Amino acid sequence: MRERLLSALFGGSCFVCRGAARGLLCAECDAELPRLERPLCPRCALESPNGAVCGRCLREAPAYDATRAALAYEFPADALVQALKFRGELAVAPLLASLLGNLPRVDCVIPVPLSRQRLRQRGYNQAAEIARALPGVKVDAFACERTRESPPQMDLPYDERQKNVRGAFRCTRSLAGLHVAVVDDVMTTGATLDELARTLKKAGALSVTNWVAARTL
Ligand SMILES: [Zn+2]
Ligand SMILES: [Zn+2]
Repeated sequence: MRERLLSALFGGSCFVCRGAARGLLCAECDAELPRLERPLCPRCALESPNGAVCGRCLREAPAYDATRAALAYEFPADALVQALKFRGELAVAPLLASLLGNLPRVDCVIPVPLSRQRLRQRGYNQAAEIARALPGVKVDAFACERTRESPPQMDLPYDERQKNVRGAFRCTRSLAGLHVAVVDDVMTTGATLDELARTLKKAGALSVTNWVAARTL
């Protein structure tokens, strides 16, 4: 059913190479997705020998406890994420969600919120689209809100990014005693997710795990 729907939406051509495809991607492009299968730091999902907690996380522990990332933010994963984020290709969300694989049970799943203004401009929140496509997950899109949109993080050095997002989120209810998962499309330095995790823990969250579709390395 899903494949038929996707091939109807995409005219049976691969989203990346436009070759014949039964789903969103042809078999070759699917095989070439930059899946993150090397040993990664369990906390920040950057490469780390033997999958141990990396030096950066040891020196300065982030507010989140763990990160699961499906893909490296490289071609064609970047093209997929940008299509979802900037071109309204919502059918990409279920593909990204499925790449996250089997996820552990949590009490609450929160997509990284957009500011009201950004949400109005875009018409949807790409992180919420991915979260909603995760099987068996109840998404709580209103537990947390973004009070202001910061300038694009990509343009700033690391220290500036942290200042840039300070105080950008606010919880609308208590999360006392809950294990929370945060869903996002891309994790870059982790400054935004760090600030969000800090906010969620102030609201009582016991643990915060990031589930991200793509990770810049
Ligand atoms: Zn293809
Ligand atoms: Zn780390």
